[in-house]
Amino acid sequence: MMTKNDCSVYPIIVPAPYGLKSYNFYLYKQAGSLSLIDAGIDSDECWDSLCQTLKQHGLEITDITEMIVTHNHHDHVGLVNRICAIKEVPVYAHEDSICRLKRDKEFFSLRVQFFKQLYEENGCGAAGEKQVERLKDSVVQNEKNKIKTDILPIHETHTVAGLRVIETPGHSPDHLAFFDAERKWLFGGDHLISHISSNAIIEPDRNGNRILTLIKYRESLQKCAKLDVETVFPGHGDFIHDLQQLISNRLIKTDEKAEKLLRLIETGHSTANEIALVFYKRQYENEFSLVMSEIIGHLDYLETINKVEKTLKNGVWHYSPN
Ligand SMILES: [Zn+2]
Repeated sequence: MMTKNDCSVYPIIVPAPYGLKSYNFYLYKQAGSLSLIDAGIDSDECWDSLCQTLKQHGLEITDITEMIVTHNHHDHVGLVNRICAIKEVPVYAHEDSICRLKRDKEFFSLRVQFFKQLYEENGCGAAGEKQVERLKDSVVQNEKNKIKTDILPIHETHTVAGLRVIETPGHSPDHLAFFDAERKWLFGGDHLISHISSNAIIEPDRNGNRILTLIKYRESLQKCAKLDVETVFPGHGDFIHDLQQLISNRLIKTDEKAEKLLRLIETGHSTANEIALVFYKRQYENEFSLVMSEIIGHLDYLETINKVEKTLKNGVWHYSPN
């Protein structure tokens, strides 16, 4: 727990698999309001942790006055429906979260089409087709995760529960961070994590258009570097006290990876798929969509800094050094 100038943060930290360390979400209490920032996964363990944390501070679920969501991923919105079943409170998120959280059919068919084209244009062949089939199945499977309550859109110039909304696209197109300037606290979601890099996952915007994800991610990092922050409360793992250092490490890491990919292009690997196969031998099969996000994202970056150019041959992008 942290308290400063009549405001408290009660973290809820639940162990998580896959190197995530923990699922973190936060109660943010001021006079007259109790906000829940993110909502863990939909598990009894998360639910019990939330209830226990509330109880420790003499509070109950019904004391929550609103929920604020950093982004649409399932491990950040898991308890929203359970909480709203007890008490309907406003749920705030980015506009691009809404079609995803409400499982909008039109959007999800655009999204399948988006990935089909993306993988074809990057020469992914059978692996891409397999991933598109997986995506089609997940549209049906994930229907059960639909958020039932209405979601209120928020953006950059808004303040919610006293927190400044900071748009931080990159890890996801709808990613937001929430800034308490007075206390120098930043709720960073998955944009800022100390022990692992936040994957800049390729996703379409709500109209099905491609976003230059890694470039957005870097811009969002540079934006956060300008904030006067003492503590970052992240979506996973330990709290961050040296934000500037973390940001500069993350920026250096993308430059280093881009350089390595450039070497591969110089030695004749010209499509994103060929580069992915060489660079991510072992992960290619099991983590295909993540691998392609990393490769395509870094190729976008090399293109914007004029290190490579691409040409479309028989419907597939080929990269060459500039
Ligand atoms: Zn996430």
